[in-house]
Amino acid sequence: MNNIRQVTIAGGGMAGWMTAAALARFLDGTGTTIQLVETGASGAVGVGEGTIPAIHDFNAKLGIDERELMRATNATFKLGTEFVDWTRKGHAYMHPFGPYGLDMNGIAFHHYWRRLREAGDTSDISAYSLATAAAKQGRFRHPTNDADSIYASYSYAHHLDAGLYARFLRRYCERNGVTRTEGRIVDIALDPESGNILALQLADGRMIAGDLFVDCSDFRGMLIGRTLGTVFEDWSRWLPCDRAVIVPSERTGNPDPYTRVTARDAGWQWRIPLQHRTGNGHVYCSQYLSDDKAVETLLANAECEASDDPNLLRFTTGKRVQTWTRNCVAIGASAGFLEPLESTGTWLIQAAIIELTKWFPARDFAKPDIDAFNKTMDKRFTEVRDFLIAHYCCAGRDDTDFWRAWRSISMPDSLQHRIDVFRASGHVVLDPSDLFDESDWLSVLIGQGMLPASWHPRTDSLDDGTVDQRLDYMRSMVEEAAAAMPSHAETLDRYCEVEDA
Ligand SMILES: Cc1cc2nc3c(=O)[nH]c(=O)nc-3n(C[C@H](O)[C@H](O)[C@H](O)COP(=O)(O)OP(=O)(O)OC[C@H]3O[C@@H](n4cnc5c(N)ncnc54)[C@H](O)[C@@H]3O)c2cc1C
Repeated sequence: MNNIRQVTIAGGGMAGWMTAAALARFLDGTGTTIQLVETGASGAVGVGEGTIPAIHDFNAKLGIDERELMRATNATFKLGTEFVDWTRKGHAYMHPFGPYGLDMNGIAFHHYWRRLREAGDTSDISAYSLATAAAKQGRFRHPTNDADSIYASYSYAHHLDAGLYARFLRRYCERNGVTRTEGRIVDIALDPESGNILALQLADGRMIAGDLFVDCSDFRGMLIGRTLGTVFEDWSRWLPCDRAVIVPSERTGNPDPYTRVTARDAGWQWRIPLQHRTGNGHVYCSQYLSDDKAVETLLANAECEASDDPNLLRFTTGKRVQTWTRNCVAIGASAGFLEPLESTGTWLIQAAIIELTKWFPARDFAKPDIDAFNKTMDKRFTEVRDFLIAHYCCAGRDDTDFWRAWRSISMPDSLQHRIDVFRASGHVVLDPSDLFDESDWLSVLIGQGMLPASWHPRTDSLDDGTVDQRLDYMRSMVEEAAAAMPSHAETLDRYCEVEDA
């Protein structure tokens, strides 16, 4: 038998514990053991993080109960992200988790909406999104499975405390046979012949062996980068923000069921409402803003006094050229990093775990399988990168050096193609395996003020009067359905309120 006997995971942040939990489930009954090594302190970014709806698949596969998870992580519901001041100061749009309107005669809704605008209609596309209406009114109910109901027309995710999520998963892992070792990794032993990793050496001299190693350390990538020398591809020419300062603040009022990201002079600021507090962070470009100014901006714009000291993080946007090298797979920050504008960090971890289970190796580490893993992860990172760049390149701001600099940043070809097609005909170029679907792109491109020059010619099968009537009907359906939803606070109270300690 050539099976992997032990998987050794280096690092116990979000990536480490998510990987350990998923592998514990996946390898159950195979005899493969899982060992996770971490320093004592939790390294997870614990201010409060946004997720995207795909997180449900991950938790469901682990058999995690949503109520239990939400109580343990002080989570709230998230219907999307509001972008404030990106187009111009005073303007806001929502990127909701759900589509706009209904398709007609097999043609996507937005083509009809665009045509009617040309005929003088002024309705905002967001008026056709139930997730947007509910978010703005502070309402939430779970979507239904009844495909005929308007309440099936949206999805949702969670805002959760990442530190608590890592702790929750740790308990799950320990119940499911994962061994945790506390200690600082100071060196890595390599097999002189194959170049594969043999063991992690801890500061106290202990050696932790393994067949397959998962590098979930941090940005530095102790195994994949520093030891195996896998090159980091720097994407900061497209995404130049390189720092974040984060701070929690007291909760004020009822938590909104959405993330807010507000454009600032040299970056953007997030606000993520949890049950017990609010997570705030300011992502910025150090070329245009000093750390002191960044902290000042963050604190001046947090809605309430900070409840802790600000925490400064430095990062470089990009990814390892290969996130799987030899017998080492990098997952999380060690694999790559993209700023959290669309809450995709957790999803990239999840995507890597899915690929790892798909291409789970034997001890011969078949190269074609490793190549397939790397190719897919490259696509995942590239897609997220392009989506993030689109936010900046299409933003209308030109009031600071940072925003003016975007005028001279040329987009990657993959993104330029999508934008050119959309501008011309209103079509969204998609690959079936894409994370972001048509409505995701529409919300950002149209939200930032980009209107396609034309629309699908087949919308002509319906005359203006009929389209107008149908759009009226869709808007009133959305308004009525949103008004009939309970408030987010009520749903939280009923469903998962955190009990006082
Ligand atoms: C400012 C910021 C905001 C973010 N917001 C979001 C968000 O809203 N939504 C989202 O999905 N993602 C977000 N992310 C991304 C996501 O949280 C991170 O990508 C993810 O947390 C990285 O997790 P990680 O486990 O790879 O690394 P880390 O959390 O850095 O964990 C690394 C672990 O490795 C251990 N370690 C490191 N070196 C050693 C060593 N020598 N010996 C032993 N152990 C070691 C550390 O102790 C720690 O346990 C954000 C990231 C940042 C920086």
